[in-house]
Amino acid sequence: MYKYFALTLFINTALAEQPAQFDALVQQIESGQRYFFSAADYQQALAELEAALPPDDANRRHMLDRLSCLLRYYNQPQAGIRYSDDKISAAQQRQDHAALADYYVCRYYLYSQIGQVQRAEQQAQLSYQAASDSENPLSIAVSLALLGNIASYRGNYADAMQHYVTAYQLQRGLGYKPYISDLVLSIAATYRRMGLFQDALNYIEQAEQEFTAPNEQFRHALIMHEKAYSYAELGQYEQALALFEQSMEVYQQIDEPLWRSYTKVNLVWIHNLLQRYPEALQLANEAETELAQLKAPDLSALATYQGLLALYNAETLTALGNAAQALVKLQQAEQQLSIENNPRYMLLLHNAKATALAHAGQYQQAYQRLRQYVSLNQQQLTLSREQQSNVLRFQFDSARQQERNDQLKAEKQLVEQHVSTLQMAQRWQYAALSLIALLFVILFSFAVSLKKRNRKLHRLAMTDELTQIANRRRIMMQAEQERVKALDTGQSLCFLILDLDHFKQVNDKYGHDVGDIVLQQMCMTVASMLRAQDHFGRTGGEEFLIVLPDTDADAAFAIAERLRQAIADIQFPETPKKMRITCSIGISQYRPDEPLNISLGRADDALYQAKAAGRDQTQRSD
Ligand code: GH3
Ligand code: MG
Ligand code: MG
Repeated sequence: MYKYFALTLFINTALAEQPAQFDALVQQIESGQRYFFSAADYQQALAELEAALPPDDANRRHMLDRLSCLLRYYNQPQAGIRYSDDKISAAQQRQDHAALADYYVCRYYLYSQIGQVQRAEQQAQLSYQAASDSENPLSIAVSLALLGNIASYRGNYADAMQHYVTAYQLQRGLGYKPYISDLVLSIAATYRRMGLFQDALNYIEQAEQEFTAPNEQFRHALIMHEKAYSYAELGQYEQALALFEQSMEVYQQIDEPLWRSYTKVNLVWIHNLLQRYPEALQLANEAETELAQLKAPDLSALATYQGLLALYNAETLTALGNAAQALVKLQQAEQQLSIENNPRYMLLLHNAKATALAHAGQYQQAYQRLRQYVSLNQQQLTLSREQQSNVLRFQFDSARQQERNDQLKAEKQLVEQHVSTLQMAQRWQYAALSLIALLFVILFSFAVSLKKRNRKLHRLAMTDELTQIANRRRIMMQAEQERVKALDTGQSLCFLILDLDHFKQVNDKYGHDVGDIVLQQMCMTVASMLRAQDHFGRTGGEEFLIVLPDTDADAAFAIAERLRQAIADIQFPETPKKMRITCSIGISQYRPDEPLNISLGRADDALYQAKAAGRDQTQRSD
């Protein structure tokens, strides 16, 4: 029982571990961390993947198929192409763009191996399209690096640089250092091919500083290799020699016979340049034997190196005076190198052939070759200048773009600063405005209340408190105003002075409060009987002045009589007995040029006469 349980647990754990193990392997291969130096390495990786593949896992099965294309068929290009045909239609059906991109990359290498350069380039284009559709940054970067290699090799350096830089940025984002290192090296190689050796060396140094790890010997050897090319082109042959020798040692250590032989070919070239012909001859013989024995996966690359070796070997032979043998070697070189149609190799070939022909005494043919060389060289120089200016423009554009970005950033900062300043100013403005508004409200209400108060004060100052009619000051002002007006207009004006009779007795009999009520009642009665233009005011205790504009003495008399009658008729319910209040009135008509006090004095005289004549009557002044 216990045993059974332990076994189940073991199986379950193993099953659970499988996908993680598989994914980790894929990650290692995809990120470029796992290197493949030989067909055996590929087989090993494939076996590990197959072991880790969980059963009935369609997605991981697809992944294994994708990787198998390169891992299994790298050495069998024809079989690989057939295999990928089926896988491509399947991937197309399930719209797996990332898988498609992978299959096209695989086919690029397969077609390259069988020397079908154009087909290979088509696959690279298809890979880029599929990668773009997949929107997978790794797929896009890988296909762009491929397009960059093709463009660089063809001499379209500006295009190459653009592809490389985009791929570089994508790989930087992914953080796959081996790919980044490869791209930096590719950029360096492109600069070298353009004749910009210092730029090339700068990039190589970047590759060296940033990406060499102790276990990345192969990469380190590649870096030394690339550096050696640049030094050789700069005429620093000793440095180039040392670097080629170092990288060859590394290839020896990691058992990389193909690259070791390629490096040997380059050493022949350097020894020629150093005019060390015996060494060159010996190395050439060694390399020739090695290359013949090798079964390189990339047949086209092998052919190129064989062609280059024949070319360098011919140069040695020419220098050593063996022009006839050199021409045989050059024949072989021409066959192998013309497949590539690489202008740089063709230039070398024309030059070597012209020299060999001249040494062999075939001056006419030598001259023809030389002309071919000059014409191709001219063409290449023009192209190179064009490409250089394209690259410079590309660099300039990038620099300008950067500058523009910086400028925009700075502008944005400025605008933000400006906006925040404005916002602050606006806030202050709002605060100030609301303060001002508040102040206005306060001031306004203050002004209103002040005006009200003033009006009230004014009214108080001009109104008799008990009777609410004009007080002495006001009625005297109104009288004076009417006098001036009458003087201006020539209209008649009359003054009535009214005094209650024996009022002291009213107070004495009924109390002061009743006296007050009598005064109020009497005022209300008089006020209600007067016209709008008439004025009525209290000049003393129980004495009143009535100003009647536009009224002659007769009319004034009639008014006075009506008033006197009305006052006499007032009923006072407050008094126990029916009380009758009477008054005496004196009238004066204004005489032009007469001061007010004289006119009023005459009315007062008339009042005195009325009192003297027995009260409760109206008297006119003379
Ligand atoms: P005459 O007919 O001669 O005018 O007699 P009179 O009593 O009206 O005159 P007098 O001038 O001797 O007295 C006026 C009185 O009016 C004195 C005062 O008691 C009274 N009086 C004056 N002002 C007021 C007031 O505001 N209220 C009351 N209740 N009485 C007042
Ligand atoms: Mg009086
Ligand atoms: Mg009186």
